[in-house]
Amino acid sequence: MSAARSDQVNAIELAGRSATLERELGLTHFPRLVEAGALDGTSVRAVLAFGRFDGRPTVDLKVEGSVLLTCQRCMRSCECRIDDAVRLAIVADGDDPVPGGYEAAVGDAERLSLAELIEEQVLLGMPLVPMHEDQAGCGKAAPTSAAIEVVSTAEKKQRPFENLRELLDKGER
Ligand SMILES: [Zn+2]
Repeated sequence: MSAARSDQVNAIELAGRSATLERELGLTHFPRLVEAGALDGTSVRAVLAFGRFDGRPTVDLKVEGSVLLTCQRCMRSCECRIDDAVRLAIVADGDDPVPGGYEAAVGDAERLSLAELIEEQVLLGMPLVPMHEDQAGCGKAAPTSAAIEVVSTAEKKQRPFENLRELLDKGER
């Protein structure tokens, strides 16, 4: 699976020069997110700051963005915000010890897939049971038409005054 990824970097080389990379990725880069039910419109931005600790390459990873999932209450799509930061130590084996404060990321440091690293973090940050945060908005019409409804109601509220003026004008005649 890793071999198919075209976004591999050499974490050891990047750590050697304390490089920081930024990536903005959509669903095409995240096959596991698709499997988990992520829908079109999903977009994640990540900042990866490479470093070294105890001889191991490390990555300070920040991910933010939105994952569109199916709301389990109304079955419409709902947006789940992702905003996470984690300190990763790249290890070849999951049993390898990692320095305190770091979490292990198992992978080949010389051919590290950024998308896989980011995808893993997004999966961890996703709600187990996605639902609209705003209960009132759950199951209702799409936000755009709701907004239009509000505008037209406001217009109607102004109309009685116009009508009143018309009536008064007529009364004067
Ligand atoms: Zn809902």
